[in-house]
Amino acid sequence: MAFAVTPHLSHDRAVSHILTDSRSLLTPEETLFFAIRTESGDGHRYIESLYERGVRSFVVEQLSSETEAKYSGCNWYVVTSSITALQALARTHRERFPLLHTIGITGSNGKTVVKELLYQLLSPCFHTMRSPRSYNSQIGVPLSVLSITATDEVALIEAGISRPGEMAALEEVIAPQLGVFTSLGSAHQEGFASLEEKLDEKLRLFKRSTSLFYSLDTPLVAEAMRERFPTKSHYTWSHQDPAATVYVRTTETTSTTTALVCVVAGEEYPLTVPFTDAAYLEDIACCLTLVAALAPQLLAVPEAWRALTSISMRLEVKDGLQGNTLIDDAYSCDLQSLSIALDFLRRRASATGARPVLLLSDIEGSGRSDADLYAEVAGLIQSYGVDEVFAVGEHLTASAGLFDAAHTHFFATTSELLASPLLSRLHDSCILIKGARRFALDQVYRRLSSREHQTVLDIDLSAVVHNLNHYRSLLPPEHPLICMIKADGYGTGAFELARTLQEHRVDYLAVAVADEGRELRDKGIRTHIMIMNPELSVADTLFSHRLEPEVYSMELLEGLCERARIAGITAFPIHLKVDSGMHRLGFAPADLPAVGAYLREHPELRVSSVFSHLAAADEPDKRDFTERQAKTFIAATEALTAALGYQPKRHLLNTAGIERFPEYALDMARLGIGLYGVSATGCPGVEPIARLTTVLLQIRELPAGEAIGYGCRGITSRPSRIAVIPIGYADGFSRRLSRGAYSVLLHGRLCPTIGNVCMDACMIDITDVPEARVGDEVLIFGGEERPITVLAEACDTIPYEILTTLSTRIQRRYWRE
Ligand SMILES: *Cc1c(COP(=O)(O)O)cnc(C)c1O
Repeated sequence: MAFAVTPHLSHDRAVSHILTDSRSLLTPEETLFFAIRTESGDGHRYIESLYERGVRSFVVEQLSSETEAKYSGCNWYVVTSSITALQALARTHRERFPLLHTIGITGSNGKTVVKELLYQLLSPCFHTMRSPRSYNSQIGVPLSVLSITATDEVALIEAGISRPGEMAALEEVIAPQLGVFTSLGSAHQEGFASLEEKLDEKLRLFKRSTSLFYSLDTPLVAEAMRERFPTKSHYTWSHQDPAATVYVRTTETTSTTTALVCVVAGEEYPLTVPFTDAAYLEDIACCLTLVAALAPQLLAVPEAWRALTSISMRLEVKDGLQGNTLIDDAYSCDLQSLSIALDFLRRRASATGARPVLLLSDIEGSGRSDADLYAEVAGLIQSYGVDEVFAVGEHLTASAGLFDAAHTHFFATTSELLASPLLSRLHDSCILIKGARRFALDQVYRRLSSREHQTVLDIDLSAVVHNLNHYRSLLPPEHPLICMIKADGYGTGAFELARTLQEHRVDYLAVAVADEGRELRDKGIRTHIMIMNPELSVADTLFSHRLEPEVYSMELLEGLCERARIAGITAFPIHLKVDSGMHRLGFAPADLPAVGAYLREHPELRVSSVFSHLAAADEPDKRDFTERQAKTFIAATEALTAALGYQPKRHLLNTAGIERFPEYALDMARLGIGLYGVSATGCPGVEPIARLTTVLLQIRELPAGEAIGYGCRGITSRPSRIAVIPIGYADGFSRRLSRGAYSVLLHGRLCPTIGNVCMDACMIDITDVPEARVGDEVLIFGGEERPITVLAEACDTIPYEILTTLSTRIQRRYWRE
């Protein structure tokens, strides 16, 4: 595929870095930036800031003579499509490096897991590279391919599509000799008319492949493969059909492992894998088939299979002791994932003003000499601006001369590091922990973690973004949004929410009181912040931290004006609240002409917006009430505008309103509970964001007729296994959930509470889960399996109250893609 290039070259520059995301800039002079337009943004907007930081080479889709004149000394490559140009560059790059095997992986689910497991299996046998995390898109695939180097023998490249026509482009870039189809499911169905159409599109990846790998247990896939590619070599797996290339039988399942017999060419290979989940076992069957073709000797090495680790596709960020933030990436340690993690560290540290620190172990299995390898590591550490490094392992220690002595400490073993006083002195740092499994750096992670309490609220920030986009899609395009993060982000953590929402360019954040707003400003949040329930006493905090108050009474209005005048402030933005029928805070509609007239005389304040709150938008039988509120509000805003002499922005809708009354979107909308994964009217498309889990602390076997807990209120009706879990009413697990009023989920099965809920613990009946052991995870609520609404109903309340009353001693843990 050719692409039209019109180069405007000022001079020769050697380019060694390709950049598509301006936040990942590393070595400006050697960077070529591709300005890409996507649904969520336009790379052309970042040219100015990249130019200021020293980038001089750009691929663009348009170049005006003003731009060219303004940014002098640049090389410009003008193309019709920056994405197509990036793909063409990747294809040329791939053609330069003849690999032993290029493996292209597609399918609806399991692509990333299969790729990561294959990487673990094959990297001891071949120099193997793989696409980073889930870089499988029109941009991610070329970036992956561009990272192939001359020493690589096997490349594992993941390809994902979301609409027809995309796979042909990815095929050009990857041209896999080996094609892997993991599974077919209904995921990413939106862009396609039917499952067949989606399958047809995916199979385009295999146009030039010589060998195909797929499951016989999905007849639709197996038939399509045979029909479409009769002349290629077919390698299949099955749990049912002994005629498959690899036939897999499960022989025994424990709570953490599965024993399998894998039959290949009449030979039986028994092996055990540390997974029990059906999806993982499917991915294992797929890996077995590839291993049987590429490295059959591994079938007879049970240790290789037993040692597989599950794949965490996300970097976990957690608060540590002494103001530290911890990023745990301790499952793998290779150069490629190191540079991705360092990029993440640098962004994260600079966003929070923390010092970037790295804990790193020896890198194993690279196949390169230490001198070469660690020189590159030292270079990466320097270019990502890491402030302090704790290096663990004999190879790193022996290579100490390559590192900056002033900022690096060396330890031969993890125990030596744990014993070092330097470790306990770390504070207010952002610490990336990255190590090969053998070094067990998770011990260090635990040491640096803040709380030992085993009850954890996991917050999926990617789901927050998903929900944000969902509600955006219900409103007119580009409709400004105010995101409600009062009460510490409905209990999930206002700062992490604010950071994420700021990154996704919401227009306003709103909290209840000035202290919440000040804390966000202190931590670096720059988005507009609205304070919903301000008092006059905090006026100076409002002014000094640019916190925009809701004004709901004449007294407050006059008081704020007075304070602003004394402070010499003019046109400070405020938001007027109108009571249109809820009868909480707000001006009566009849007051507004007087409010407008007063403000006309007082230039200290300026009405940025006027709003009202719906009392019953989620009640289907109160439509008329809501309609009346809307009419009252709109009439009131007209009176206000006439008196003020200018038109403030108007907003009325909360989550339920967005779902049911989009016709009243006006100029902005206020999104609350929907962001947190609870639809006000049960509409689909919203993802749960929070999971509350704990662990089994103790298990006891009791005969029938024993009394459990305070007041002897729970009596065993049969010989029972009763477990204690460390969550009680002081954590927000209400005493109303006592005596079977609620069940938690353990190994996928419901276990009711028994006896009364105590302050810090409660008891559950786990008789029906005989495999449960101390330490096993218990799901209190979360995900699709145990929605928070079920818990709320059991407490006779609403999810808002459940979330906001979870105690602060429950650790919050944040996840993002
Ligand atoms: C909390 C709040 C919202 C958000 O309500 P949800 O039902 O959570 O969407 C909107 N507006 C005001 C004034 C609020 O106080």
